[in-house]
Amino acid sequence: MILVSCYAYSRYFQLYFRVFDTTNDNEYYFHTMISENNKNKNSKSSGRWTASRQSILDIFKKTGEHLTAEDVFMHVKRAGLTMGLATVYRNLEFLKDQGLIKRYQFGEGRAKYELSSEEEHHHHLICTGCLEVRDYSEFVERELKLIQDIQRELSDKYDFEIDSHQLHFYGECNSCRKK
Ligand SMILES: [Zn+2]
Ligand SMILES: [Zn+2]
Ligand SMILES: [Zn+2]
Repeated sequence: MILVSCYAYSRYFQLYFRVFDTTNDNEYYFHTMISENNKNKNSKSSGRWTASRQSILDIFKKTGEHLTAEDVFMHVKRAGLTMGLATVYRNLEFLKDQGLIKRYQFGEGRAKYELSSEEEHHHHLICTGCLEVRDYSEFVERELKLIQDIQRELSDKYDFEIDSHQLHFYGECNSCRKK
C-alpha cells in the first residue's frame, strides 16, 4: 500500500508530499512549487526533500520549542539518527529558506529556530537569566491596528516596503527573580 501525506504551506505556495510504501517501508519526500514568485524567495538554497530534513521538521513539530542548532542535534542523536552537526546546520538553513522554520537572533549569541506558523502571529518574552523564550499572542488583536498604523507611516516616510516584523521583550522570569 502507498500512503501519501501532503502538507501545504500556503504562504510559500508549496506542497510537500511524503510517500510511504508499506510493502517495503520505503519513504520518499518531494515538494512542488506552484508559484512563479516563489523562485526569487527561495533562491538561497535548493535541494531535495530528504528524510533528514523531514525528521528535523518533525522535531520542531513535536517539541514546539525554540531550538538552537545544538539543541536540534541533541534531539537528532536521542532519536538515534546519524546526522552530523554540520548537516543539521545545513538542513536548518534549507528549512528556513523554504519558509518552514524561522530563525531568530535573540541576542544570546546563538540563533534559535522555531516552526513557522501560518495561523498564529506571536511575539516573545525572553528571560535574560535562564534564556527561556516564551511565545505570547494574546495581544495580537490590539497590536494589529497600532502596528499597521506605524508600518504605514514608516513605509511612507522612508519609502520602505515592510513585509514583516518581530517583537521581543527582555527581562527576568518569575523563577529567576526569586533566585
Ligand atoms: Zn506582531
Ligand atoms: Zn528565567
Ligand atoms: Zn516563538
